[in-house]
Order: sequence, then structure tokens, then C-alpha cells
Amino acid sequence: MHVPLVLTDFLDRAVELYGEKTAIIDDTFSLTYNQLNHRVNRLSRGLQSLGVGKGDKVAYLAPNSTEMLEGFYGVFQLGAVMTPLNTRLQPEDYQFILTHSESKVLLVDAALYPLVENIVDDLPFLEHVIVHGDPSDQGYEQWLHSFSRDPFSRVEVEETDPASLLYTSGTTGDPKGVILSHRSNYLHALSSMHHLRVSDQDTLLHVLPMFHVNGWGSPFYYTANGATQVMLRKTEPSVIIDKVEKHQVSVLHMAPTVLNMVIEAYESAGPQIHQDVRVVIAGSAPPPAFVRKVEEDLGWTFIQVYGMTEISPLITISELKSMDVDKEAEERCRLKAKAGYSMIGSRVKVVDEQGSHVPHDGKTIGEIITRSNNVMDGYYKNEEATAAAIRDGWLYTGDMAVVDELGYIEIVDRKKDVIISGGENISSIEVEGTLYDHPSILEAAVVAVPHEKWGEVPHASIVLREGESLTEEEVVRFCREKLAHFKVPKSISFIEELPKTASGKIQKVAIRREFWKGRSRMVH
Ligand code: ATP
Ligand code: MG
Repeated sequence: MHVPLVLTDFLDRAVELYGEKTAIIDDTFSLTYNQLNHRVNRLSRGLQSLGVGKGDKVAYLAPNSTEMLEGFYGVFQLGAVMTPLNTRLQPEDYQFILTHSESKVLLVDAALYPLVENIVDDLPFLEHVIVHGDPSDQGYEQWLHSFSRDPFSRVEVEETDPASLLYTSGTTGDPKGVILSHRSNYLHALSSMHHLRVSDQDTLLHVLPMFHVNGWGSPFYYTANGATQVMLRKTEPSVIIDKVEKHQVSVLHMAPTVLNMVIEAYESAGPQIHQDVRVVIAGSAPPPAFVRKVEEDLGWTFIQVYGMTEISPLITISELKSMDVDKEAEERCRLKAKAGYSMIGSRVKVVDEQGSHVPHDGKTIGEIITRSNNVMDGYYKNEEATAAAIRDGWLYTGDMAVVDELGYIEIVDRKKDVIISGGENISSIEVEGTLYDHPSILEAAVVAVPHEKWGEVPHASIVLREGESLTEEEVVRFCREKLAHFKVPKSISFIEELPKTASGKIQKVAIRREFWKGRSRMVH
């Protein structure tokens, strides 16, 4: 018998096994799985009364909150499609996404409503806007409550039906809408819960935003296991520490930058703090020294994961293989600072231009490609981009990497950011790493600019720390001591700030554009 892999299974299981266990701890209240389920059913009825049915897009603009979590399951039960929105976008971005996604309903947190208030009346597909979370206006709660008695029968959902429509960060161009089926999300969740050893004893603090691909998936695998999920509306180190201690948090997923702030806050708070944290999971390459600090100073196991919106998102993990756990601390941290190796359900290869595996020598660069259960169906309404990304059943990630002798993958750069100078590949990240070693440099981005003789050469855009000054010659001299000659930036601009996406990634495409006006760059 074919049983479809649908995400509603996860909440059903938790309700059946853990009905009276705490599912959610929010700022001022908590809910058991039974209570959560009642709210979810009411929400499904409420949305149904507004005409939401199979395939309809329901957008969410909210911080990590009970409403967002109940939104996932309330929407899935209808066979509708969840479209979470980044809370840091501009009104024109919301306009674009709400129109492109053809969202029928928008649920928005009261505190964020001003972001969309001036656009919601003029969107062609949007029929209803529901505001929640305003303590002085219980409208949403009353609305939910009014569906207490209505019967709700589940809509039949197939595993191949779309569950979510997420937009990429827009780091390398315009954000693209990624359609992920129930099956992709489900199999990704199974793989993640296995690799992260999720259990009913876990208490997760939602630090990464649930609306973003970085935090995506965790509401599924912690729910399926009857774990407790603590909401965090503001990413503030003192609040994080407070919640970690108060609720005996055991798992955290967060960006290294936030983790760094948490470490500093812990250091100033002193050693008396009790911690139950068993693991912290981060999704972008930190230096090995940082990994060591987390493991030795905080005593938290560090795991790095790699992925992208198009793959639900994770395909590799840096948890050490058993034969590597007894290595010296320095070597262990060096391995953990890499993206790691493939997770169950995903085949991951690093290949050269001809499609052959690169040698496992830690230095030959190739592109990461994957054939995975987690891969998207395609970009929404963008067949051209889909055809460019998925070729012969493999998704081309656009991320360049090397593989070491032990089989661990290390991200080197994005394909579009690699600078090809006189036939040599230069990793922009490597050059930036050198610049960051300079005490006067706060931020740096290195991009390819056109050059008559070499084709491309590296250019550095630098933001100095307050009160510091540097000349172009001083930067070049500093780089010459540490980098091969051809990798040293050939020109430098000192600027006030770097262009960034809403999730804080540097948009090198915007910097490059200035230099390539009227010329086309061969994108390798
Ligand atoms: P767009 O596709 O719109 O240009 P984006 O690629 O930044 O934006 P996301 O899907 O949010 O959108 O980010 C995925 C990318 O983040 C990956 O392709 C990779 O470049 C980077 N990334 C993810 N995990 C890691 C990691 N562990 N180490 C280094 N880079 C990572
Ligand atoms: Mg991308």
C-alpha cells in the first residue's frame, strides 16, 4: 500500500504519543501538543472558510512564534502551500513576492504590519490579510475561537503536492521562488532528525528564523519527535542565554555571528551558569579556532551543515566520522569547520567541468552537485532557471569546493564569485580571509573586475573600523606578505558599507555590476 509522505504526519505522531507534553514555550505562555493541535485545526477551518484550498499560497510575515508554527500545519492540512516571508525586506520586495507567488492570504504579525500596510490593498491575488499577535487586539484569537465547533475534515494530500514556496536570499541576483513538495520536506526531515539525533528529550530554541531556509525544516523534525520548541522573537544574546538557562535548552541552530555574541555574553556572565545544551548547529563556514572555542569554552558540541533553499535545505554535515573522533583537538576542529559529507538521502559530488570527481587532495576545486530526495521541483514560474540548475537529474549548486583525503568537503567559493585571472582560479573568500586578518578592516568583499591582459583581476571593497585609516599601498603590502602575487587585489575601494541581502549576506553581484557595465562577464 502506498502511504504518502506528508508533513501532517509529524504533528499527528506527536499528538498521539505526546499529547500532554509541552510542545511550545512562547514568551508568556506554553502549549501542549493537544492544545497546539486544537489551534491548528481551528486555523485550518478558518482558512477554509476564506476559500483556501489545495494549491493556494498562504504567506506568513512573522517572527518565530506560536502563530508561525501552527501556520505550518494549519496550511499543510488543507493541501495549501506555505510561503514564509523574510521579516527584513523592503515594501517593494514584499510586493514582488506576494504577487509572484500569487498568495491568496497573508498572515502577519501586528508588529510587522507597518512593513506591508501600504501595499496590501493593491496586490492582484491577495484576498485576505489577517493580523495576529497584538496584545491590545484579540481579533485573531477570537477569529480562531469562532471555529472551535466547526467540523474539519482533512483534505487528501499527495506526497508530490507542493508544501512550500520559499524565496532564495537573492545573494547572486533576484530572489527565486523554490517549490518543495511534501515528499522533499519529509525526507529531508527524516535525514536531519537522524543525523542530529533529535529525540523527545530535546528542547530546541528557535534562534534561526523559521521564515528563512536556514531555520527551515526544524519545525518538522522536532515536532515529529515530540520535542519542546521555545520561541525566540528577537535575536539578542542576553535573551538567548536567559531562555537557554530557564528552559534547559538542549539544541540550538544559529549563525556563527550570533553564536559569537552568545559566547561573549557567556564569558562576561561568568562560569556559574548551568547549561544543558548538547549541540549547536551552524550553517556557514567558521574558522577552526572558532569551533574550538565553542567546544572547549562552552562545552557545546559544534556541527556545521551545508545546504541551500533549493534542497530543503541540508545535504552535508560535519559531524565527525567515528574514525576521526580521536584525532587531536586541532585536527578535529579543522574538520568540523568544513561542510562535511553527504547526509542520508543525498548523493553529493564535487566535479570538474567534465563532470568527473575531483581528486581528494584538498586543493582541486570543483562544483558541488547533488542528486537528492530533498531537491526542489523547480523554480516557480521560471523554467529557464530550473533547466539551468537541474541537469540530467543533478542539481548544480553553484558552490565551489575541495575534498580532503578523508572525504570531507570544504566550500571554497560561489562559482560566480571565483575570479579567473590568467587561467588561475582565485577564491574571493580566501582573499577576504586575509583582509579580515588586518586589525583596521571591519568588512571586506573581493570581486572579479575586467582586465585587458589577465581577463579578470581581484578588486577589494573595504569598510574600515571606526577611527582607522589605511592606504591602498598598505593593504597591498599586507596582502603580499600572505598571498600569492596573482591573488593580491589589484585595486581597492574604501567604502562606508557593503551591499547586503535581508539575511545579511554580502551581495557581490551588486559590487561587480559597477565594474562590468556594458561588458559581459563569462560566468563559468
Ligand atoms: P540566491 O540563490 O538568491 O543568490 P543564496 O544562494 O544566498 O541566494 P540561500 O539558499 O539562502 O540563498 O543560501 C544558500 C547558499 O548559502 C549556498 O549556495 C552557499 O553558497 C551558502 N552556504 C550554505 N551553507 C554553507 C556553509 N556551511 N558554508 C559556506 N556557505 C554555505
Ligand atoms: Mg543560491
